[in-house]
Amino acid sequence: MAELILSLKDNPYFGAGFGLVGVGTLLAVLRRGLQHSLIFFRRNYMTTLEVTSRDKSFYWLLQWLNSQGRRTQHLSVNTSFQQLGPGKIETHFFFVPGPGVHYIRYSKSWIQVERNREKQMTDFQTGVPFESVILTTFGKKQKLFEDILHNARQSALLMQEGKTIMYTPAASEWRPFGHPRKRRPLSSVVLDKKLAEYIECDIKDFLKNQSWYTERGIPYRRGYLLHGPPGCGKSSFITALAGELEFGICLLNLNQTGLSDDRLNHLLSVAPQQSIILLEDVDAAFASRDLTKENPGVYQGMGKLTFSGLLNALDGVASSEGRIIFMTTNYPERLDKALVRPGRVDVKLLIDYCSDYQLQQMFLKFYPHCNIQQANIFVQEIRQNEIGKSISPAQVQGHFMLYKSSPKLAISNVNKINI
Ligand code: ADP
Repeated sequence: MAELILSLKDNPYFGAGFGLVGVGTLLAVLRRGLQHSLIFFRRNYMTTLEVTSRDKSFYWLLQWLNSQGRRTQHLSVNTSFQQLGPGKIETHFFFVPGPGVHYIRYSKSWIQVERNREKQMTDFQTGVPFESVILTTFGKKQKLFEDILHNARQSALLMQEGKTIMYTPAASEWRPFGHPRKRRPLSSVVLDKKLAEYIECDIKDFLKNQSWYTERGIPYRRGYLLHGPPGCGKSSFITALAGELEFGICLLNLNQTGLSDDRLNHLLSVAPQQSIILLEDVDAAFASRDLTKENPGVYQGMGKLTFSGLLNALDGVASSEGRIIFMTTNYPERLDKALVRPGRVDVKLLIDYCSDYQLQQMFLKFYPHCNIQQANIFVQEIRQNEIGKSISPAQVQGHFMLYKSSPKLAISNVNKINI
């Protein structure tokens, strides 16, 4: 036995193999040691923060990262897109740092920003891939990350200050659509005498009286139907009103493909607090039930949304902060009575063609240096014209735009108003 060991020891091949094994083991030990030291180093001398896409701060943080001086060249885009009507499409692009590793310098510290996108995991609520952003920096700097989150939130809120946020449905939740819009002053929408004040008071009164509803077991919601010819200010008024109340607007298109009863129900129940739910042109989605029987084709393109599904969803809408639903239509006579019964629609208002008062007020708003006499001459001229009998504020606005600096020409050319 001793002889065998001695002979193996002298064997050059065996010696070399032994050496190799030795080197391999040493390397493995070193690698292990390095890994442990790295873990130790990360634990004790680095700070990391993970923000997942389920967290509200996620998009704030991405926007903030992109707004930092050292902009990354590796971007990804969030596009919001909305079909507003035939041939009317609105698109907005937001650029945010793309998946991968980026470096930024903030408050004298280098920060590694790692954006990860999971290929296998999707958020079951929104159907989008699960994502996270991991911020890493040297030292124990929890405060630094708190500052960053605070700043990200502040700048996101600053962007919204004095603005109205429009939300549109994305899968089963509401997402802000485009950049927040500058609030439109309520006074810039000229409705007939006292009409705007009436709606504004009604809503403010509703918002103040939650206990009245709860004490009587009435769902805390209020529905409004604004009807009338196109271009008379239905949408503009609702947008301005939302601005006045500091509410957002959840824009829901009932013709949207893929909108089922369940989804609508869910969307209405998760609509952001402090927002108005706006169903524009409700007649386009649902003709009266009798008409639908006669003409089943009308139901085409409605996805799996049924009329009773819409009614149920509207009835189920209530929230502790009060739910306000606005519907608009150019054809109120096409609406089913069940849709507009009290409880679903509490206030119905006609937003009609211009009254004399509106013409006069629009003239004075457009030409503030003119006096009431000139405004009245404009009204007289308009009424003497055939088109002037039923003229919409949109037409009047278009006419004034042609004569921005000349009220005289606006008066003398009333016969040229576009129909
Ligand atoms: P509707 O929703 O009734 O079809 P919109 O609100 O979309 O009408 O109005 C279309 C355009 O006409 C907007 O640019 C808006 O500024 C202008 N407009 C309509 N009505 C009024 C109004 N009453 N006062 C001021 N501008 C108006």
